[in-house]
Amino acid sequence: MIFDLKTTLPAGIPTRFIARQHRFTTDTHWKLGAVLADGAERKHIALVRALPQERQVRLTMRGPNPHNFFTLLRDGVEVTLQRFPGLDVRRWLPCPGHDGNPCDYLFEYDRILRAIEHGTEVTAVQCQETFEDVSVGELLYGLHWITNDRVITRIDELADQIRAEFASAQKP
Ligand SMILES: [Zn+2]
Repeated sequence: MIFDLKTTLPAGIPTRFIARQHRFTTDTHWKLGAVLADGAERKHIALVRALPQERQVRLTMRGPNPHNFFTLLRDGVEVTLQRFPGLDVRRWLPCPGHDGNPCDYLFEYDRILRAIEHGTEVTAVQCQETFEDVSVGELLYGLHWITNDRVITRIDELADQIRAEFASAQKP
């Protein structure tokens, strides 16, 4: 997620955020960013960066099931930004790509939320780079309650996979 501040980044971004998230430290941090990881296994890796020239904060997540860690860190970014009253923050989500090809298009998060809360069934939005439809579920995966069914399905799939791996490990 890209947080577009449209103004000079206040001093303390992202250092305040990084200090708040100390429990996730990987001891890899610098003046304008940090690499964070969750839990002992560190399956999920997050990169938070402040980009003063672009007037942006970027939060990037990698891992098999990243939405919980993402939500946690995103809340941390939001709380940090709220400490600076008057910021007009716009949030952007990168296009997930098309048929395995990456895409540079950015969707405005609030606009997607407005679309799905509009009342009519909006299940896809058009990428303005390729004019292909992108599933709202894929775009907001784990970020909004409408994707809960998808998240639960994914958790069930993972649970099945773990059970299968466990069962095959038990075989003599
Ligand atoms: Zn696209």
